[in-house]
Amino acid sequence: MSRELPPLDLHAHIDVGVGARDLESLGAVVFVATRTLEKSAAALTRSDAVTIWGVGCHPGVPAAQDRFDVELFRYQLAQTAFISEVGLDGGSKVPMDRQVEVFTEILGLVAQAPRIVSVHSARATTRTLDVIEQTGARGVILHWWLGSDRETKRAIDLGCFFSVNPSMDPRRLATAGVPLERLLPETDHPSGNRRGASMKQPGWTSDVEASVARAYGLPEQAVRRQFWKTLAALVDALDVEWLLPPVVCAMLDAARRSGE
Ligand SMILES: [Zn+2]
Repeated sequence: MSRELPPLDLHAHIDVGVGARDLESLGAVVFVATRTLEKSAAALTRSDAVTIWGVGCHPGVPAAQDRFDVELFRYQLAQTAFISEVGLDGGSKVPMDRQVEVFTEILGLVAQAPRIVSVHSARATTRTLDVIEQTGARGVILHWWLGSDRETKRAIDLGCFFSVNPSMDPRRLATAGVPLERLLPETDHPSGNRRGASMKQPGWTSDVEASVARAYGLPEQAVRRQFWKTLAALVDALDVEWLLPPVVCAMLDAARRSGE
């Protein structure tokens, strides 16, 4: 029996200046979301043992959307397994047409070169699903998803995954018919883990494991094991393992072997 795998966090915000030791001391594998291509450029100069830095263009950040450059994005996408965060935001100052234009360009590239993509859809759930459908992008993880049951079913049919943070109630997803195999954990640190009594740090998804375990009627260890298996299957389906740190690849191997 191999050592227990650490917690996973598929969407957290961490300053790109944080030291490597501090990241390792989180004791978790963390996928970090960036909001602008400038920040992404800085993030991509790093190589950390258990931290995966994403390339992102947040729909709620006007400067990021104004300065979005598809060629720069293409260049950055070639260097990482993770795109985050991108999507649409109905409360953003950025005109929706511009948001749709940027998101469509991003998912168009992802459709050609698949990546794990953490997607923001606040107050724009239907239009977000429209763009996912039109571009045919795979590997989408809907982050902090609040769509209706009907939209959730549509997202399942489109092959989307859902990342659950401590501020969400996974029973809503269970009721809408989301299989456990489509769930992954996130903190959305520092927004998603603001409430509650648990630790407010990236990678701290034990409370998500507990809430998913309750919602799906499973032991907590089984939930973490399933999250790792889900991630491993996603990495295999998208063929992005070559872009991940070796330590994380070894953990994915352990996840694939567990329960055999
Ligand atoms: Zn975020």
